[in-house]
Amino acid sequence: MKLVLASNNAKKLKELQVLFQPIGLELVTQGSLGIPEAEEPFDTFVENALTKARHAARESGLPALADDSGLAVDGLGGAPGVLSARYATLFGREKSDAENNRVLLENLARRPDGADRRARFVCALVAVRSATDPEPLIAMGRWNGEILTAARGEAGFGYDPLMLIPSLGQSVAELSAEQKNRLSHRALASADLLRQMREAWHLG
Ligand code: IMP
Repeated sequence: MKLVLASNNAKKLKELQVLFQPIGLELVTQGSLGIPEAEEPFDTFVENALTKARHAARESGLPALADDSGLAVDGLGGAPGVLSARYATLFGREKSDAENNRVLLENLARRPDGADRRARFVCALVAVRSATDPEPLIAMGRWNGEILTAARGEAGFGYDPLMLIPSLGQSVAELSAEQKNRLSHRALASADLLRQMREAWHLG
């Protein structure tokens, strides 16, 4: 079965391809089909994922999968949250992982009494069979950690170098791809979504 992925993020695609391998799904990015990215106007991950999945299904005529994810830091009231991908632009900086990470560290350091650095990665995955599917499949995954004071590690993407997983004593960017794909917010959401796909879509 072919599923359009409502994202052009190559690193996300790579993780999701591995995670969805067990049921032999072929993921193609919407970009490779010439489909532009959807707006993500909502306050919640799940609403943004649903709107992205519907958009990809409408434009492609194929079933679609969307991932809306981000980092929520307790000491910043849950920011950057649904704005994780473009956090730096809220402060007049360029849109890149490096700038997002710098701005995050600056904003935490600026807190007068030291901020609560506990944080979690959140992932909402939504799959629809068509743009008007009345029964979208929805799964959430969370991964808890703490924001470091400086980046560590080279692997992964986004905020991975700043996210310490205390039980491992390593940042997410210090984990192998296999370790991240066993533990991450995306891995947890994918496992749940796979279970739902097997049941509701008779897959695998
Ligand atoms: P989206 O494409 O709108 O869902 O934005 C996702 C953003 O959240 C990414 O650009 C990253 O900044 C962040 N993010 C999501 N998942 C991860 C992850 O696994 N590691 C690090 N950052 C992530």
